[in-house]
Amino acid sequence: MPIFPGTSKNLDNDDFTKIEIVNNNLEEGMECFNHWLSIQDGENKSNEDGSRKIQLILKVFEKEKNKLLLHDNLKNLDIKVVFTDGVPFCAFCQIYDCAHTGFAICVKQNIDG
Ligand SMILES: [Zn+2]
Repeated sequence: MPIFPGTSKNLDNDDFTKIEIVNNNLEEGMECFNHWLSIQDGENKSNEDGSRKIQLILKVFEKEKNKLLLHDNLKNLDIKVVFTDGVPFCAFCQIYDCAHTGFAICVKQNIDG
């Protein structure tokens, strides 16, 4: 009776590393944004799985009100960032230079028409 190896293929999708915020600084937010953007730009439908591997994604961008709503996939929270005179402030961390404001800066630069 033949025995099928069955385990020869590795189904883990390791080519896309998980983007996780550790230090909560601007750079991490920018990195999250870049990965999120590349998923948005890529394949139309298969992006949901990719988005789940990024800690932060953009939920709402209210350009007129200078307000963004991000979603933290790991903590399952919505995080609000508000721009005042071009300076982003994170309502969650209560600071100006966390990962969320880094993400917000990128959104404004790349999505603001
Ligand atoms: Zn924050």
